[in-house]
Amino acid sequence: MADTLHKKEKATDNFRDHLATVDKQGKRNWIYAQKPHGKLYRLRTWLSLLYFIVFFGLPFVQINGRPLFMFNIPQAKFILFGKVFWPQDFFILGLGMVAFIFFIILFTASFGRLFCGWACPQTNFMEMMFRKIEYWIEGDAAQQKILAKAPWTGNKTFKKISKHILFYLLAFIIANFFLSYIIGIKELEKIITEPVSKHVAGLTSLIVFSAVFYAVYAFFREQACTVVCPYGRLQGVLLDKNSMIVAYDYKRGEPRGVDKKTNDVVHGDCIDCFQCARVCPTGIDIRNGVQLECVGCTACIDACDNIMDKLNKPHGLIRYASENSIANGEPLRYTTRMKMYTALCGLVVVVLSVILLTRKDINATVMRTPGILYQERGKDSVSNLYNIKLANKTLDELKLSVKLEDANGKIDIVGKPYIDVAKEGQGSGSFFIVLPNKNIKQRKTELKLGLYEGEKKITTITTSFLGPVSE
Ligand code: SF4
Ligand code: SF4
Repeated sequence: MADTLHKKEKATDNFRDHLATVDKQGKRNWIYAQKPHGKLYRLRTWLSLLYFIVFFGLPFVQINGRPLFMFNIPQAKFILFGKVFWPQDFFILGLGMVAFIFFIILFTASFGRLFCGWACPQTNFMEMMFRKIEYWIEGDAAQQKILAKAPWTGNKTFKKISKHILFYLLAFIIANFFLSYIIGIKELEKIITEPVSKHVAGLTSLIVFSAVFYAVYAFFREQACTVVCPYGRLQGVLLDKNSMIVAYDYKRGEPRGVDKKTNDVVHGDCIDCFQCARVCPTGIDIRNGVQLECVGCTACIDACDNIMDKLNKPHGLIRYASENSIANGEPLRYTTRMKMYTALCGLVVVVLSVILLTRKDINATVMRTPGILYQERGKDSVSNLYNIKLANKTLDELKLSVKLEDANGKIDIVGKPYIDVAKEGQGSGSFFIVLPNKNIKQRKTELKLGLYEGEKKITTITTSFLGPVSE
């Protein structure tokens, strides 16, 4: 079917007017991708193992009792590298998002869809987990096609049911781990071990996530990349002629074909064998040029390299290349523009890391009580009244006190001598700063306050003190 489809497209050259996976009636063309073999596929298999270890392992990594990453959208609470981000930190998250988008644009302009092929969860789970199970149970593409057309015998029913049971189990496991990235592994454990009645919302989420993942990997498949994914659809504006993409070297390959009588390659190096199209999980023919459906999985590179081996021709008829490098016959270069983009990406990462690492666990805001200037204290001193607001992002309850750092005077905390702040909570209090008249040289004096937990200084806060100017 793939052959007929591609030959028809070649004749009419209308491949850009429609999706390879949808026929003229708007019905789905099911893709039976042939199992890839080759160096890149082996490398991707090994890297995907590492990928799965990280995906399934990260929720178990805790720093000071907190998950390494948590994205609790319902509670607007995010944990990145063990640090909690609250709604008041949203400017950091906003900045992070902007930096991330900036990074994506630069990365894509330089390296095309490298992310889609090697790091995207959709590609990794689909190609390296679900598709491999399908090959294992139903065989390679040709056997899958035969099975699909075969009547419902016991063998077919057994294969189909086994495949879908395994798919659903895997989807259920992925859904559990996905949920653990939202609520944390400890909460997930409670959902699993405690009575159902206590975790109706959590269980509902699990069922919904499992159903969605199952539907995506069992049925929706490549449509997630070609129809839904916004990143995929942005490629048209993000790529340029210098971007590194999976590309067919039309200068070397065309005109394609073999002499039917002698079986010799008569023109370019492409023998029109369609192996590159048969392995493509999105059903396209890379020889048609850059297409939004190409997820950069490199299966066509392996397929074509295998054909070149049989023809005793060099590898790389399909390879990572830029349009410019193919048009001008130069090897892919790490251009100055790419170097600049990489440097800018590095800068973005450094800025974000600095913001994350220097972010304080305890935020303090001190403001002079509005509407009050100063109070006379006996004959020789003046006081100002302040309000302090504290946000505690740690997992400990804190008793915090304030000390005057750089002036002769004292602090009178209203009520208890310290301010209680609950773990991952907020606290507030009021205090007076009392300064002797002789130390007040101007109407507004800058003061430094130290915030302490016991004897341990947590941060320094700057504020101002209003007083009468001595004559
Ligand atoms: S696998 Fe290589 S030789 Fe075969 S059709 Fe594709 S580009 Fe041509
Ligand atoms: S064209 Fe090649 S790299 Fe692109 S999705 Fe198809 S097989 Fe993968």
